[in-house]
Amino acid sequence: MDPYTRALDVAHEHATSWLDSLEHRPVPPQATIEEVVAALGPDLPQHGCPPEEAIALLAEACDAGLTAMASGRFFGFVIGGTHPAARAADWLVSAWDQNSGLRTLTPAHSAVEDIAGAWLLDLLGLPTESAVGFTTGATMANFTGLAAGRDAVLRRAGWDVARRGLTGGPPVRVLVGAERHDTVDVALRYLGLGAPEVVDVDDQGRIRADALELALDGPVLVVLQAGNIHSGACVPFAETVAIAHRHDAWVHVDGAFGLWAGAAPAYRHLVQGYEDADSWATDAHKTLNVPYDSGLCIVRDAAALQAAMGAHGAYLVRDETCQPLDKVPELSRRGRAIPVWAVLRCLGREGVADLVERLCMHATAFAEALRAISGVTVLNDVVFTQVCASFGSDERTDEVVRRLLADGTTWMTGSTWHGQRVLRISVSNWSTTQEDVERCMAAVRSVASGIA
Ligand SMILES: *Cc1c(COP(=O)(O)O)cnc(C)c1O
Repeated sequence: MDPYTRALDVAHEHATSWLDSLEHRPVPPQATIEEVVAALGPDLPQHGCPPEEAIALLAEACDAGLTAMASGRFFGFVIGGTHPAARAADWLVSAWDQNSGLRTLTPAHSAVEDIAGAWLLDLLGLPTESAVGFTTGATMANFTGLAAGRDAVLRRAGWDVARRGLTGGPPVRVLVGAERHDTVDVALRYLGLGAPEVVDVDDQGRIRADALELALDGPVLVVLQAGNIHSGACVPFAETVAIAHRHDAWVHVDGAFGLWAGAAPAYRHLVQGYEDADSWATDAHKTLNVPYDSGLCIVRDAAALQAAMGAHGAYLVRDETCQPLDKVPELSRRGRAIPVWAVLRCLGREGVADLVERLCMHATAFAEALRAISGVTVLNDVVFTQVCASFGSDERTDEVVRRLLADGTTWMTGSTWHGQRVLRISVSNWSTTQEDVERCMAAVRSVASGIA
């Protein structure tokens, strides 16, 4: 057997045993970082070993320190699992090892990326002329869309930022809702735009159209949210996008998970009108359940994106066509479009809608079961995949979160929303079943009943 086969066989065996264990193992990790370091051995060896030995050591030493994020009982943060088609496709990505920046370099990857991009626009009902960039995640998708927007609003104000930089140019204002995701601020910091101006939101965390209207003036970027991480709420797009465009603003939508409402007929109304925005960021590694790292940046004006991104060195043997590297910050990158294509091909239009609708259905089931526990209040309108509940006092809620983690049946994150500590449930995994929901709620009830 050649060395590839032996190492891959060991990896395959460990991978399937890990995946098989997900159904039964506790969700939280069972070893500390120090324990994993000790199991791996902290010292750089003087002499190497065959690949399969290194892989076996890695798999055995890490097992107890892994969190079962891919389990159907994981509801922390907003974390999807990996669909079987996407996982297998990702193995091919590693085997094929294509540098995917340039079209002519890898016709196969370019073909897959073209098709996956077109399918995504179709599924989400976004303008077909848009460029689709495959980024590492929504943080970089926000960065990429806002980079295109920053350059475009400055160009309209007569300033070429690519040539002259930001110094001495007209100020660019950025308006965000008070409950935007932190990574929007991160993206703005990378872009040299500083902290954004904060616009008031309503009780579900949606930017208020009247407050937005009052704030608009000058070269301005407006960031609107599809999917508040606490409430799941989406801003009223039709109204807010129209207001922003009346003032010539660039409208960017952060829809890391919420954009997928657009792919499910039963939830499409949540994002009605978002198709009139200028750029959209979402994750494939959340709702679409492909492996990390996989985000999507969609920009209506492909030329604006190409002007903001892209490398133009002579050795890159490129023509004027929009290249994969013109749509993302990186030059070299792995074939991220391939697992996206695989899961879309496997699910089809109906399967994607069904996936989104099932996540929402489980969130609704969680909310109903929580409301049935005395002393529990569900704080948000459960319109999508997110549920926030208080167990009375902040102390009691925190104790529930702590004891749930110790119990290990499930992982739900503690957070603070509108000044109250909450247990936050985010349903994002394709494999979660009704049974998982019931099993996790039994753990929640048992933990809550043990606390005065
Ligand atoms: C997760 C998330 C992000 C950041 O996405 P990454 O993929 O972790 O970079 C941005 N915005 C929202 C609303 C999110 O939920």
